[in-house]
Amino acid sequence: MASAGRASAERSAELFARAEQVVPGGVNSPVRAFRSVGGTPRFMVSGQGPYLTDADGDRYVDLVSSWGPMILGHAHPAVVEAVQQAASAGLSFGTPTAGEIDLAEEIVRRVEPVEQVRLVNSGTEATMSAIRLARGFTGRSVVVKFAGCYHGHVDALLAEAGSGVATFGLPSSPGITGAQAGDTVVLPYNDLDAVAAAFAERGQEIACVITEAAAGNMGAVAPDDGFNAGLKRLCQAHGALLVIDEVMTGFRVSSAGWYGLEGVPGDLYCFGKVMSGGLPAAAFGGRADVMGHLAPAGPVYQAGTLAGNPVAVAAGLTTLRHATPEVYEALDAHADRLHGLFADALTEAGVVHTIQRAGSLVSIRFAEGAGRDYADMKAAETWRFPPFFHALLDRGVYMPPSVFEACFISAALDDDAFSVIADALPAAARAAAAATAP
Ligand SMILES: *Cc1c(COP(=O)(O)O)cnc(C)c1O
Repeated sequence: MASAGRASAERSAELFARAEQVVPGGVNSPVRAFRSVGGTPRFMVSGQGPYLTDADGDRYVDLVSSWGPMILGHAHPAVVEAVQQAASAGLSFGTPTAGEIDLAEEIVRRVEPVEQVRLVNSGTEATMSAIRLARGFTGRSVVVKFAGCYHGHVDALLAEAGSGVATFGLPSSPGITGAQAGDTVVLPYNDLDAVAAAFAERGQEIACVITEAAAGNMGAVAPDDGFNAGLKRLCQAHGALLVIDEVMTGFRVSSAGWYGLEGVPGDLYCFGKVMSGGLPAAAFGGRADVMGHLAPAGPVYQAGTLAGNPVAVAAGLTTLRHATPEVYEALDAHADRLHGLFADALTEAGVVHTIQRAGSLVSIRFAEGAGRDYADMKAAETWRFPPFFHALLDRGVYMPPSVFEACFISAALDDDAFSVIADALPAAARAAAAATAP
């Protein structure tokens, strides 16, 4: 059983010092670096079910799940076996394989508006390719996105993005040209009037609106009733495409992702995370007439040496095949249980808070009332999060190391894991209560 007193993290500190010499900031993806919470990032050495074990031998209940993919828990036996079998048959052929069809068919079967799918290596590649396709299909250049929505580190989509960009308080990023930024219109999330005004002004130039199906990269912020449907209506009326980014929500919040909860059809979809099974894989797909514009069927170029890699496909397909209705029921129940534990502990400690939900995504907003957009989420008492985070970490609970990230739960959470969380929360809530504004 996990025990208190992990503050030293000696081995992780040594590894981090070494990493900082040869890897910028010591990490291969910024939010792993703990910059917004302080302290030493934990170097993990293994994962089993709902737990991670770090280089110092300390065990944590994992509420990050590799930022989403490990929906079945770590080292799920069926997934590991499928990966081992695929690997021993050869790692990559650079030719089509039958597994790619199985995975595409599984996605098409689950998400009704998706008729064709192309596999890529990351969610970033999926959104980048989807907006290129939307521009190629419509012959227009402008992309509308929402502040606080993160769509990977695509140049055109980093403007006012959530996730790591939110964590570090960057408005955008150096290295993005004026032309790229100029073709991106950034609007407040959940503000349909702003979208209508943008279409009224530049309707002929807008290739697509891209939105997270439910926002999860500024904390969990569900779309208001009618928001996604309104986007669909406006896009349709003006000849633009609706690109729904389900990289986070896809195959997580239901068997058909957010589409399964809401039923608003997009023209194009982006997937990643869960459908990767934990190896590098992602996908974009949608209407066959639009997807038919992709090379080699059509003129819009898109390619990948390792796209549809057989080992990654085996991991993704096996994960989806084991993501049964029972798994989605468990995820919803676990999310409700976590929600209740957070709320009870924070209330008991007198911390003003709102638990934000988007399906089984859960995050904490340190303020009264639900946040509906990025401005709301940034206006909360975000400085209460670092001491809350560290108190949990010291007691064996690994939350995402940023207040702007949602908890990703796995179906492997069980009563033992929840009792670690329940035991850790009172001290964490007291730490949040004791925090002072910077
Ligand atoms: C994680 C994420 C991406 C980017 O995926 P990567 O695999 O990290 O490139 C894109 N969109 C959303 C909504 C995400 O959560």
